[in-house]
Amino acid sequence: MKEFDYIIIGGGCAGLSLAYELEIHEKLKDKTLAIIEPREEYKKDKTWSFWKVVTHNFDDCIKKSWKNFSINIPGKTNHLKCDHYPYQSVDSSLFYKKITSKLKENKNIVFFRDLKEINSKNSFIFNSVPSIKKDHRNLWQHFCGVEIETQNNFFDDKIFNLMDFDCDQRESVHFFYTLPYSKTKALVETTWLSKMNDNSQKDYDNQIKDYIENHLNLKNYKITYKEEGAIPLFYPSDETEKNKINIGTAGGMTRLSTGYTFLNIQEHSKYIRENFENISNTKKYKINKKYQFLDDIFLRVLEKHPEKMSDTFFKMFKASPNTVIKFLSNKSNFLEDLSIILKMPKLTFIKALFY
Ligand SMILES: Cc1cc2nc3c(=O)[nH]c(=O)nc-3n(C[C@H](O)[C@H](O)[C@H](O)COP(=O)(O)OP(=O)(O)OC[C@H]3O[C@@H](n4cnc5c(N)ncnc54)[C@H](O)[C@@H]3O)c2cc1C
Repeated sequence: MKEFDYIIIGGGCAGLSLAYELEIHEKLKDKTLAIIEPREEYKKDKTWSFWKVVTHNFDDCIKKSWKNFSINIPGKTNHLKCDHYPYQSVDSSLFYKKITSKLKENKNIVFFRDLKEINSKNSFIFNSVPSIKKDHRNLWQHFCGVEIETQNNFFDDKIFNLMDFDCDQRESVHFFYTLPYSKTKALVETTWLSKMNDNSQKDYDNQIKDYIENHLNLKNYKITYKEEGAIPLFYPSDETEKNKINIGTAGGMTRLSTGYTFLNIQEHSKYIRENFENISNTKKYKINKKYQFLDDIFLRVLEKHPEKMSDTFFKMFKASPNTVIKFLSNKSNFLEDLSIILKMPKLTFIKALFY
């Protein structure tokens, strides 16, 4: 069986981002790489959105970028600017196409469907398939979104809605978000923060229909694309193994309070590329511990007091938008952290330290 210097298990967002980063920096000129990916073809399956707080390789895969956003709770709307850090949406079909075409140029990179097809004994492995124990106590972010098209101009495509909590909460945390790609096209997504086995919230089609027709007051539209998924709001088990590094969700690249992962994946890929020649002895890359600590408290409050979360998010955005964006994107300094913490319901958060 064939052997490779490196193996990437899972050719999704993290696996492909890493392979691309290594390829464009010519790290695979004299080395071989196998990518293990079971899917038969790459087609659009996700829309990755984030505030652009650092540069990345995929500006040409951006479907749309915004400099204004809003957040809503019942009876209140806050309009905010993000011109320093525009919010970008990457179209996964453009991302997959760009990367797979580039990787095809290098004969040293080969795709396989199953790890069993090669001999992996002596290879260095980058693994993006999380080992997740089904634990009913763990929190997940569940969501389902549809892209819709209208015949007449309907959306204001200069501003996106980050979170609209003016919807049925069902003793959980629920919001919609709307990304208008143009005056006639938008992604509308329903998002729940809750336990995995809670099926009572999965009537997504009805929720979305009701929101579009009765909240956005849009009656004439057609659905052109649908995406559905769940992100673990806990770290998958990450045993340290020699010659193996976990990447992507499996490697703890998800920010637990928000689900944002895409830019962390890009920064992790860059870190691996910079240390590639000595990767087995390089310190593990992690999201800064202070965010892990703060997110842990945040999720404890969320679990105990879901009814307080819409107000908490709304109040957080009373701090300067740049500060909140930097905080949510792991780029804030101590004073910025403090200004966010001061916006939180202090007693509730202090009590959460002792749950
Ligand atoms: C629908 C959806 C929308 C999201 N939106 C955002 C967003 O807006 N912003 C953001 O920052 N994050 C977002 N995320 C979170 C995160 O960015 C994505 O989940 C991202 O795809 C994670 O990358 P990954 O490589 O870890 O996992 P994936 O992209 O899922 O890649 C894992 C790959 O492993 C493959 N695989 C599975 N089993 C095996 C196996 N046994 N052997 C080999 N390969 C296997 C899969 O086919 C897949 O291609 C979203 C997640 C989902 C599910």
